[in-house]
Amino acid sequence: MLLQFQGMMAEYERALIIERSRRGKAFRARSGMVNVLGGAPYGFRHIRRSDVCEARYEIVEDEAQVVREMFRRYSDEQASIGELARWLTGEGIPTRTGKDRWDRAVIRAMLRNPAYVGRAEFLKTGTTDRRPAINRQARLQGRSVSRHHAKFDRPKDEWITIAVPAIINEATFEQAERRLVDNRRFAARNTKEPSLLMGLAACSCCGYAYYRTSTRTAKRKIYYYRCLGSDDYRYPQGRVCDNKPVRADYLDDVVWTHITALLADPALVQNELDRRLTDMRATNPATSERARLERDLTRAAKAIERLVQAYQEDLSPSTSSAPACPICAPNRTASRPPSTRSKKSSSAPNAWSSATASPCETTPF
Ligand SMILES: [Zn+2]
Repeated sequence: MLLQFQGMMAEYERALIIERSRRGKAFRARSGMVNVLGGAPYGFRHIRRSDVCEARYEIVEDEAQVVREMFRRYSDEQASIGELARWLTGEGIPTRTGKDRWDRAVIRAMLRNPAYVGRAEFLKTGTTDRRPAINRQARLQGRSVSRHHAKFDRPKDEWITIAVPAIINEATFEQAERRLVDNRRFAARNTKEPSLLMGLAACSCCGYAYYRTSTRTAKRKIYYYRCLGSDDYRYPQGRVCDNKPVRADYLDDVVWTHITALLADPALVQNELDRRLTDMRATNPATSERARLERDLTRAAKAIERLVQAYQEDLSPSTSSAPACPICAPNRTASRPPSTRSKKSSSAPNAWSSATASPCETTPF
């Protein structure tokens, strides 16, 4: 019981520490302190806090020149993000993590980062209970549920701005921002017809996802699903998978026929639901964590109930000859009949004095 109570207190203290840390970070961010931010983005160096100065971002001049040129090409010359990636890779400029190939997603994130105009933002994202779609690593490890929680973008009015040195001017950044918004609005994918397995199919050879692509013949447009691992241009040593693209209409048809046949059998559907439920219970860490917390909550509620009961009977250690924890003697307090103060004064000291050897005597309570 003592261990359970200590466990309960540890949980409570853990929650307190997390909350204090979150509040402390938000407070430091509002005070303009850079040390709440993660690693500095490309173009900056994070100088740690010392005895003589606070933590700060410092501009790395040769990287800053690359950032300025990237924004100039994107905003003034209307270069595409793919062209920027090819230019940076072609020039042999290493990325922040030392890679020699620039990913388009990295460049897109850089073009959206307001730190380059002197506004590093804190609390841009938050986490949800939802699990994101699994990635290649999870597929190769045979997992069906992601280990991480999905993130969401917080509204801009919740962001906390921290001033850092600017690398580019506001006008260039706004121009780039407008182009990114337009790209999203007029993206070709917004006008495409959806197909059944978009975002669902993955390659069993290499674990990469299949994306949909198309070719146009004289008569019509034909859609294909293609393995991400089979594209030469994505990898330094060329393709990592030899799987051929597959016609989208053929594959959709095969899968759809199979699914409708399966759905026609209710027993099969029930079995599958049961299997998935068992899998989720076993693999989802949130479920087991919740079960553990519920158990702790029940234990804590019972402990509180016993405490209240003990105090109601006025059995506080200060009035007894031998101080002890009422939680450690649940049976003694539970088995004792309800008594008045005068009755208890004769029986209680004996009951508590038997607990002098209780380990609770050393516990601050
Ligand atoms: Zn593949």
